Amino acid sequence: MTRVGVLALQGDFREHLAVLRELGADAVAVRRPEELDLIDGLVIPGGESSVMDKLARSFGLFGPLQAAIAAGLPVYGTCAGLIMIADTLVDAIAGQQSLGGLHVSVRRNAFGSQLDSFETDVDIPALGEPPVHAVFIRAPVVESVADDVTVLAALPDGRIIAVEQGPLLGTSFHPEITGDTRFHEYFLRKLQTSS
Ligand code: GLN
Repeated sequence: MTRVGVLALQGDFREHLAVLRELGADAVAVRRPEELDLIDGLVIPGGESSVMDKLARSFGLFGPLQAAIAAGLPVYGTCAGLIMIADTLVDAIAGQQSLGGLHVSVRRNAFGSQLDSFETDVDIPALGEPPVHAVFIRAPVVESVADDVTVLAALPDGRIIAVEQGPLLGTSFHPEITGDTRFHEYFLRKLQTSS
């Protein structure tokens, strides 16, 4: 059985663990570098990316996480997690770093204070019907992508909100709180094909 970790420094890691376990996965919280050796894939949850970044550095996880991503560990980042795996950040706080690996530029808090949080249905061809009910909470958007990145979903105005690049998957929104498990299933299938 494949084992999937959820980075449990901060944010809504409990919700991800619950969804993954509901799907029958062996899902474990990851807080220590040595735990990275025991997993076949990692979910980085939503939360606050600048805090997650600081905690990852103080827990000694930042470098090992970067190395694991560079070595091909499948990672699914939702919202703050997407920010964590992006190569380039726009509107990061001073000193904030991302782990990188995903060849995109991501803007934090891209919907501004007027529209901090909203929900909408999004067509995601890779997941089929029905559309995904996407919940955005102070969400980022992907502003630019390299040639090796596949855009899985965009809003009607063209802003990119879901991407895939080899073993890496990222969404601006939070599938872990809607009861729609298709993104987690999609990620678990990636683990099976890459292990
Ligand atoms: N705005 C948060 C950040 O910059 C992300 C919000 C979220 O994960 N829901 O990290």
